[in-house]
Amino acid sequence: MLHQLISLGSRLAGKNKLSILIYHQVLERLDDMRPGEPDQEQFDWQMSLISRYFTPLPLGEAIERLQAGTLPPKAVCITFDDGYLNNLTLAAPILKRYGVPATVFVASAFSQGENMWNDKVLDLFEQADSDVIDCEAIGLGKLSLADGASRRQLAYKTIGVLKYLPVQERLEKIAALYAANGDIQISRKMMSEQEIRQLSELGIEIGAHTHNHPILKGMSPQAVREEIAENVRLLESWTGKQVKSFAYPNGKPGKDFDEHTVEVVKEFPFKQAVSTEWGVSRPGADLYRLKRFTPWDRTPLKFHLRMLLNLIKH
Ligand SMILES: [Zn+2]
Repeated sequence: MLHQLISLGSRLAGKNKLSILIYHQVLERLDDMRPGEPDQEQFDWQMSLISRYFTPLPLGEAIERLQAGTLPPKAVCITFDDGYLNNLTLAAPILKRYGVPATVFVASAFSQGENMWNDKVLDLFEQADSDVIDCEAIGLGKLSLADGASRRQLAYKTIGVLKYLPVQERLEKIAALYAANGDIQISRKMMSEQEIRQLSELGIEIGAHTHNHPILKGMSPQAVREEIAENVRLLESWTGKQVKSFAYPNGKPGKDFDEHTVEVVKEFPFKQAVSTEWGVSRPGADLYRLKRFTPWDRTPLKFHLRMLLNLIKH
């Protein structure tokens, strides 16, 4: 009954508005170090709810219909950033079960077995044996778990320090952290090129997300161009399909990309580009700065309400 009411509310509030949801991973089981990521059970009821109470559409079709003014009520797109292997192994079967289309934005430099830098930091803090983690390499000294801080807090503190460094310098710092903290087991987290092709063949759109996932703001136009061109070239050769959508790495307008970045993105034949700014899209929305949104709730009722609130608020 409550779901029906919320559904009615979002029908009224969601007229001519498009919600684009952003995910990264669907985990086998919940992970303390990655509290924002749903597990397969949660993702299952989320997609069940989306298919029952909303109108899921492929991103390209939704944007065309947004522009044409023919968007159905409560239109929703599902997107994933980065190219995690669990998008193929865990998310794709659930999307298929409920007939929900999706777009996965892939950073191609991580398709050869290398994990993304933030996962390397999380793995380090999760697995480091001792209660003291040596972070001299990044000027944080020796971080102690004994003073009540959790491994997660310390890991995110470290990620914060590393986030806005140039790619190469960041990787060197992480290598130094690993060298200082003993043996850490790393499992491959990202899709290989064959797995990206498999996902594409399942009908899931593969979108561009740059090659190395740098913060694009402040980079020279030529460097931005090369990051995107290499990414598009690889994804198109792996999937045999044209890449039509782009997601800015990290994605906060003004902070992670700016008008100079957008100018370069517009040189490519993308139909749309998505940010990580929260909100919904209305007719006339800037197609190179589309907003997205993640309902973070862990119960179906709250998740559903959050979807409605996002429609009302924006
Ligand atoms: Zn990303």
